Amino acid sequence: MLISRGIDLKKIYILIFLFIIANTGNVYAGSTIYDVWGYDASSDVYYQKALEFEKTYPDLIKVNILDKTLNERPVYEIILTENVQNITDQSYIDKTNISVEGGLHSRETYNTFYIFKWIEDHCLDYYDNDYSNKYDSKALLQKCIFSLVPLSNPDGFDLFKLGMKSIADQTLKSYLEKYTSESQIMSQLKANARLVDLNRNFEDIYYNKQSQRWINQKDKLTYAVTNAIPHVNYYKGEYQGSEKETQILQDYYLSRNFRVYISFHSRGQVIYYDNIYLKNKEYDNKALEYAKTANKYSGYNVITSTNESLSSYGYASNFVANNTLKPFITIETTSAKSFPIDLSHYNKTCFIH
Ligand SMILES: [Zn+2]
Repeated sequence: MLISRGIDLKKIYILIFLFIIANTGNVYAGSTIYDVWGYDASSDVYYQKALEFEKTYPDLIKVNILDKTLNERPVYEIILTENVQNITDQSYIDKTNISVEGGLHSRETYNTFYIFKWIEDHCLDYYDNDYSNKYDSKALLQKCIFSLVPLSNPDGFDLFKLGMKSIADQTLKSYLEKYTSESQIMSQLKANARLVDLNRNFEDIYYNKQSQRWINQKDKLTYAVTNAIPHVNYYKGEYQGSEKETQILQDYYLSRNFRVYISFHSRGQVIYYDNIYLKNKEYDNKALEYAKTANKYSGYNVITSTNESLSSYGYASNFVANNTLKPFITIETTSAKSFPIDLSHYNKTCFIH
């Protein structure tokens, strides 16, 4: 019994990564140029698309608003599974629950688009198994519940794409003008609309097995890369979890029993998996299993964080590992080292119906 359960889990891991990775970076068979709402679209266009998905595929998709940002933009999850209307607390025991997040860093706009494309492909394949010969969506959606947060930083996303005109609040506009400029925002912004890099802003308190003490990373004096005041990137905020978007994600990450967390970023085509602070081999080895499977299907290199001086604090991955000891894999899509991300990445991957 135990052995067969082990095999089932292994199959599930492989299926999950087949789905997550299969499209990334590949030319999709029969693809045409993506339509205009992909690259140029605002966060609201994406949100409306999510609602449209919910109407088109009511048995597979449900949209839940987690909360709203300072600028009243929704941060939402798209739940994708078979018989989505019948989910109960027990469903999270019977099915494998996967968290997928994208869009934390404003300028990494590609991943929101990619997640939407991924969702739509699997809905289409669920009803027509010939849609793709790469995977069996029906089998996957019977086994798994995907909770996808495609855009966790919508204010920043709109600022990067549309500039200052995306901010209605005059006080916030003056704040932005005090610390930066529109040209800096539209070429470099990673932060949210308060110029806090959300991936430095998570609560980061871990249990050190060797010293048997809780360590709060806020007590660390230096960061590998940092800015001391509000900036388009690398400013950690006034205190841990100071930002609305961070609070939304922290609550969401702990809201249910996820098996694994996947976060999409876009700098180089690599996969991060381990946690150097926990110094927990079991954690790292389990996360490595997922990273290797992701590597197998994407070809992206698996990166180990061996050097503490090159790492930093307040990451979403640290928050999840510290609190749950569940694997958190960061997949960096696109080869872009400059921003905005080149249009060719969208053309390569996606055609949205
Ligand atoms: Zn990033």
